[in-house]
Amino acid sequence: MNDATRHLIDIDRLSDDEIETLINRACALASGADPGHLDASVANLFFEPSTRTRVSFELAAARVGMQPINIEMAQASTTKGESLEDTVATLAAMGIGCLVLRHAEIGLHARLAAALPAGVHLVNAGEGSRAHPSQALLDAATLRARGIEPAGLKLAVVGDVRHSRVAASGLRLWPRLGVEELRLAGPADLLPAGQPSPGVIHCSTLEEAVRDADVVMMLRIQHERMDRSGWPDPAAYHADWGLKSEHLDVAAANCVVMHPGPINRGVEIAAEVADGDRSLILEQVRMGVFMRMAIFEWLLKR
Ligand code: ASP
Repeated sequence: MNDATRHLIDIDRLSDDEIETLINRACALASGADPGHLDASVANLFFEPSTRTRVSFELAAARVGMQPINIEMAQASTTKGESLEDTVATLAAMGIGCLVLRHAEIGLHARLAAALPAGVHLVNAGEGSRAHPSQALLDAATLRARGIEPAGLKLAVVGDVRHSRVAASGLRLWPRLGVEELRLAGPADLLPAGQPSPGVIHCSTLEEAVRDADVVMMLRIQHERMDRSGWPDPAAYHADWGLKSEHLDVAAANCVVMHPGPINRGVEIAAEVADGDRSLILEQVRMGVFMRMAIFEWLLKR
């Protein structure tokens, strides 16, 4: 185990200072601060589908001067029976400085990171339903870049909270940033099982969740993590849980709408809301690149 080499595994492993540094740096880069030049190459290893996150990491790497290498996992040696541990060790031996990994297996990122040689960094770009730390950080940076401070806000997270790694990382991050009320809402079988943790409120309707909310974050139904028999009917789901303009009438006057994407128009969000003036959805995508630049800088900082 090499303690000196930084990795981004989850929100809990970041100190408050590190969280602030990352958010502030992403905002500074978005406002035109000069990115440093990092002399390292980065391999993107995505074992689950991705468009925005993979492209975002790739663009971010290029913008800080790193050499991004995309490995098509369907063609990789893991399909020839090689363990991911050996694939990763092989890439490290070639001098790859940073590995960006998306994988369904919970715990894999921490395990691989612990076995990496000194100086090789691992970034969690999605870990099953457990963690997606760069998304939570970019969401916070998106708010700050808009002049919206999480401290004291009422933030509603609506949809398939149970299977969402974005919600899981958000649940770790938002309380640390001082969010006053964290509301979770969705069909009972898509809410986290058990009692809500302190400071978290489970709402039984969308209306209850969005009333006076400052931020409403909508989530996609994570079909890939559910039995087909549990898939809700899209029209019925939209009727009960789809965010529509009328909901924003009862939210706080300056309420903003977020969604990590990909969005399903007419299911969890009405098109007019996704495209409306309260929507920060594309701003999240834009800030994602700056946050990932900030992450690379932080990882490789000596
Ligand atoms: N893109 C996000 C993720 O990878 C959200 C989603 O897929 O719904 O978790």
